Amino acid sequence: MRNPLRVKIDLHVHSFYSLDSSIPVKRLAKLIKLKNLDGIALTDHDTMRGVPQAKELLEKAHLIFIPGVEISTPLGHVVGLFISEVPPQKTLPDALDNIKSQGGISIAPHPFDTSLRKSLGKKIFNFKFDGMEIFSSRCILRKSDLLAKQVCKDLDLIGIATSDAHSWTELGNSYVEMDAQTSDEVLLCLRRKKFLIYGSYSPLRVHLRSHFSKFLRLVKF
Ligand SMILES: [Zn+2]
Ligand SMILES: [Zn+2]
Repeated sequence: MRNPLRVKIDLHVHSFYSLDSSIPVKRLAKLIKLKNLDGIALTDHDTMRGVPQAKELLEKAHLIFIPGVEISTPLGHVVGLFISEVPPQKTLPDALDNIKSQGGISIAPHPFDTSLRKSLGKKIFNFKFDGMEIFSSRCILRKSDLLAKQVCKDLDLIGIATSDAHSWTELGNSYVEMDAQTSDEVLLCLRRKKFLIYGSYSPLRVHLRSHFSKFLRLVKF
């Protein structure tokens, strides 16, 4: 039974539906509990195919489930949370408008970590996001998180910490903690910026594992 007052949610998790992730949806609930989390947002690359099954399994296990996606726009990755369908990816403004019209929140993931990931960098200043990741466990250049933290404060956005997990060992390496019992309450806490963030960095080898996993899957299928 989870603590009804303070819950820990990892808001950026990839399942097997992302080519570069090895986390099976059917094991998610077990792994989330193993990692002492109370819920996750599923944010696969450009697909929400895992959402129905994950939602069912997590809710059955009394865990909080947040439907989401990480889309690849021409300018970089964008995460949409609390949405029900994949936003259009052709242009960033269209994607952001769509997330808003679905009642969701838009997050710039790992915004200044442009080394190995498709991040927006300084282009973020041209668009209106609801929030950004100010701590990403997969961040390679730590100073990019420090910059994100400063920019988030300057723009008065929602600043979250996430693991961007692609393997089960990474789950919960970073998370938000808040007083919430349902996904609606999580959304409210995020909008009101009433939460704490915790973060730790994943070892560099997790990137190698993801690239290798993607290569194997591309060869296999
Ligand atoms: Zn990304
Ligand atoms: Zn990601």
